[in-house]
Parts: sequence; C-alpha cells; structure tokens
Amino acid sequence: MSFPKEGLSRSDVATVLRDLRHGDADWHAGRTFSLVYFAGEDVLAVLRDAYQLFIHENGLSLDAFPSLRKMETELLGWCCELFGGGPASAASLTSGGTESILMAVKTARDAAARATPNLVLPVSAHPAFDKAAHYLGVAVRKVPLRADLRADVDAMAAAIDGDTVLVVGSAYGFPHGVVDDIPAIAALAQSRGVPCHVDACLGGFILAFEDEPVPFDLRVPGVTSLSADLHKYGYAAKGSSVVVYADRSYRRHQFFAATDWPGGLYGSPTLAGTRPGGGIAAAWAVLRHLGRDGYAHLTRVVLHTAAALRAAIAGTPGLRLLGDGRHSVIAFTGDDLDVYAVDEGLRERGWHLDRLQNPNGLQMIVTPAHVQAASAFEADLAEVTAAVRDGRRTAGSDAAVYGALATLPDRAMVQGFVLDWLDLRDRPQEG
Ligand SMILES: *Cc1c(COP(=O)(O)O)cnc(C)c1O
Repeated sequence: MSFPKEGLSRSDVATVLRDLRHGDADWHAGRTFSLVYFAGEDVLAVLRDAYQLFIHENGLSLDAFPSLRKMETELLGWCCELFGGGPASAASLTSGGTESILMAVKTARDAAARATPNLVLPVSAHPAFDKAAHYLGVAVRKVPLRADLRADVDAMAAAIDGDTVLVVGSAYGFPHGVVDDIPAIAALAQSRGVPCHVDACLGGFILAFEDEPVPFDLRVPGVTSLSADLHKYGYAAKGSSVVVYADRSYRRHQFFAATDWPGGLYGSPTLAGTRPGGGIAAAWAVLRHLGRDGYAHLTRVVLHTAAALRAAIAGTPGLRLLGDGRHSVIAFTGDDLDVYAVDEGLRERGWHLDRLQNPNGLQMIVTPAHVQAASAFEADLAEVTAAVRDGRRTAGSDAAVYGALATLPDRAMVQGFVLDWLDLRDRPQEG
C-alpha cells in the first residue's frame, strides 16, 4: 500500500466513504449492542451541528477558545452536581472511560505515594483498570463475586493492605449490569483510610435518572472519585467522559506540568494534549438539549425496552438470565446450550451481541434504538435457539475458537493469541 499521489475530489471521497459503510454493523436499526448509543435523529442532529461548528478548535488552550472554556466549565459543573459532588468537588473531561479510569488510578497512586502500590477491585471491573495499572506500575488485586454477581466485600477487606492506593466498585459492571454494594465498599475503604472509585462509566447517566435511585455516587460516604462516560448513556459524540472527584485538592495529583521546555511552560490536566473542540461542544450541546427531563425520559424508554427483551430471553427454553435484571444491561447464559452458537446464528441475522465468559454467555446493552427491534429479536432468538437446541446448528469455527479460548487454562497462551490478533488487525484485507 503506497500513499496516494493524486488527490480525490470532495464528492468522490464522500462516495468512497459511503460505500465503505455498507459492511458495517447496522446500529440505526437497533441490531447492534454495546458499541453505539443512539438516542434518535433529533439528538444526532444536535451533535452534528455542535461538532461541525468546533471541528478545528483545540481544547488544549482554553485561553485561546473562551467558548470551549465556558462549555467545559459548565458541563463539568453540571456533572459534579448530577453525581452528588459538594462545593469542594471538581471534575475533568477526558476522551473516554479508559482515560477517566487511567486518571483516577494515577491520582490515587500519586496521592498515596507508596513504593509498591496496589489496587483492589472485583473481577467484574472493567479491563481499563488492568490497563491503567499496567501503564502506571500498580499491582492489581482481584476479588471474586458473590452469588448475586456483586463484588465480595469481605474478600475486599482481606485484600486491602498498607500499600492499597484505591478500592473500586462498579455502577454498574459491564459484564452483567449489576451495581456493586457501593455503600459497603466505600465504608470499608474509608475505614481503612483508602480512596474509593466508583466506575459509573456505563451506568452513570442511567442511574442518575432512574425513578427508584440506588446509592452509587459521591453522595455515598467514602466515595472519592467517579467516572461516567458522556459517549455512552450521555449520548454524546465518541470521545468524551468525565472523572469527578469529591475533593479538588485530591484531583491535583492528576495534573502534569513541565517547566523547563524551550517551548514554554506546559501544563496538562489529563492524558491528552490536543483535545478536539468538536467533542467538547457536542457533549455540552447534548446535555443542554436533553436536560434532566430528556435524560429521565430516555432512561424510562431504555428500562422499559430492557424489561421486554429480558422477558423474551426468560421465555426462551435453555437460556438463563444473569444478574439482578434491574438496569440497562442484559446478560444471559445457556443451560446445556452453546450460547456462542446462538450468537453466531444471531450474527447471521444482523444482530451484534457481546460475548461473556466464566460462564459463557451473551450480553446486550440496551439503548433507545432498540425499542423498534425488540419483537424482531424475540422471534430470531426463538428460532436460532431452537436450532441450536435440537442440533440443527452447531458452533462454526469462529465461535468454537472463541469458546476454546474462554476455557483454556493457560491464560498466558490466550494472552499471546489476543496480542497476535491485535497485530493482525492492521494488515491489509482482501476485497
Ligand atoms: C465502557 C466502559 C469503560 C471504558 O470506557 P471506554 O469509553 O471504552 O474507554 C469502563 N468501565 C465500564 C463499566 C464501561 O462500560
């Protein structure tokens, strides 16, 4: 592949781009889960307008762009209030949940300043914590889940020691959509003098608007930081998340400053240097457009749709729901049934679910886009599951390989496969 010599006209580029999309997951029709959070054409138009206006503005310098400063300050203030922060609270805008978590772990590490820091978290916590620990030289101590799939708080108590810099709970966890017992985890952390982070990357913008709220945010005594993704249930453009701290002075450990560079004094609050103005504007715009009322409405739509989809799964012989079934994530497994084969059948029909392991299962993150697709899903699920159950369909090679890797005891070997797979991703493809 060589770099193109001659340019292509604007309209030809647009034609190529439109053609490229033909093979993509069809999120518009509500058949894709977990990757896209589509709140409707009106919200999409708000995002597009805002993003286009600020496409070249750079959030690296808020002095040059007072517009971005105003939007960012406002939206962070809104999020501090939404997630129960008091007058001392402060937040940062990041590029996504992974960066928010990286920042929360860095802040905790640098605030504690231990020689051999460790992080205590449940096995269900997002891999972004493992990644942050990997990047930041922090050890990870994982505790198991109880039968209800919430973190085992007694095991957490046993895992914490004098080098623990952060204790983590999820609200909710990606695999099963279950909210950990945040009051118990935060109380434990507080009693041991350790900060507590709530990962509300996924659930934050649902839980804050539920009619029957569960305790999960900075209002819970002992919670010191929280991450919530604007680009998930905030319905913002990809590339925005917030990390909120109960205490501004603690957040200071997140910051970075270089003072001797010939390029001048350089200060940066988060990982990113240059920050896209479009993402900041789009996040501000969607919050301002929807308001509390808009989010509350969309949350009701999501929970209603999730209940309908759960009923369809519960009514399908051979499938069993996992988790407490309260929020927007649906997780299920098969009883004597290969759910990865079910997944394959659903993929052939245009559905895109996520796979779980320990036990093998499937997962769906429900959004407003899925309202229209719920009955079609029920019909397809019944047909595909019946075919797997009576042996007309068995797992193809892809599902079989995935199933084998999920259960292979040699996890170092599995890690090698995953790294190989990453290496193959950017090789030229046929066709
Ligand atoms: C998505 C997610 C993350 C990571 O967020 P990214 O935006 O993908 O970087 C972290 N925690 C939970 C619970 C998530 O669902």
